[in-house]
Amino acid sequence: PYSLGPKITKWDEQRVIWNEQNKGKNASRNGKPKMMLVSGSQPGPCANPMGDFYHLKFLKNRVDYARLHGLELFYNMATINKEMNSFWAKLPLLRKLMLSHPEVEWIWWMDSDAIFTDMAFEMPMDKYEGKNLIVHGFHNLLFEQHRWIGLNTGSFLIRNCQWSLDLLDAWAPFGPEGENRVNAGKMLTAKLVDRPVFEADDQSALAYLLLFDDPKWKSQTHLEWEFFLQGYWKYVVYNYENLMAMSHPGFGDDRWPLVTHFVGCKPCQLAVTPEVEECFTQMERAFNFADNQVLDKYGYAHKALASFKTQRIRKDTSDPLGLKDETMPKEHNLADE
Ligand code: UDP
Ligand code: MN
Repeated sequence: PYSLGPKITKWDEQRVIWNEQNKGKNASRNGKPKMMLVSGSQPGPCANPMGDFYHLKFLKNRVDYARLHGLELFYNMATINKEMNSFWAKLPLLRKLMLSHPEVEWIWWMDSDAIFTDMAFEMPMDKYEGKNLIVHGFHNLLFEQHRWIGLNTGSFLIRNCQWSLDLLDAWAPFGPEGENRVNAGKMLTAKLVDRPVFEADDQSALAYLLLFDDPKWKSQTHLEWEFFLQGYWKYVVYNYENLMAMSHPGFGDDRWPLVTHFVGCKPCQLAVTPEVEECFTQMERAFNFADNQVLDKYGYAHKALASFKTQRIRKDTSDPLGLKDETMPKEHNLADE
């Protein structure tokens, strides 16, 4: 069958040795196991320049989230593997990154059409000890009803380990473009509930592996439903004003969604339909909703969620650190004479 590259064995042992030999060079910025946030988009320009405008804004949003949480960030625009294009492009990329970055423990994949909307929420990694894949989904939809939308692969975390390399090996054969992908699509449509007829996609293939392949896939996967590791945009975007009035960042769930995912939007395509128009409107609002959380520290906010224009929300001060009022030892006393 199709393979992403030479078979790798004993990767966990190899990583331990490598990290022992390279101690100290690769410390993470926050003292936790290293995590790399990974995203990407097609190498060429979008047919509609607005698509590229939102790729840039969504990339800025990742830069901000990564900076705030001490994550490395990798954005890919190279073709890693010709046969594994479109939604399959993430697989060869994830393998490449795992093998090239043995110092990285976790890789967090995010689709180009997903955006962080809770800039304060931090992944509860303690919860996932012994798990190697964290993906948003619902137990009943996936394991009881076998629905193809039982999980979503727009935003997921995968551990850099042998299990994950093996998973990628099992996952990839559904993907090569052409007859292979078309036939795999027919099989997935037959096996998964409510799946439309179309070529094999990475999400359906993962659902298939968890349901019908080796039970070891399911046993080391955490299906996350307690917060929006991925939140369908139509359920989320119309609530932003309400949330701003009622709640605050940090929850990651329906009180303040971690990720808003623009599933079904095709902002890169040339034809602008009313649906795409609505996507652009809501992408702008999602970006500004998130950007307000970033700008607040600097005393700015967007005039409205629909507006890229910003306004000052605080006066500048001569005491930006708030230290002048404090009673400090005489030699450190900063108060004006
Ligand atoms: N992708 C990529 N390179 C490509 C095509 C797609 O990195 O050449 C990534 C991109 O991040 C995209 C994801 O693969 O969001 C999933 O692809 P899909 O076609 O499903 O895009 P979506 O429906 O999420 O926009
Ligand atoms: Mn997507």
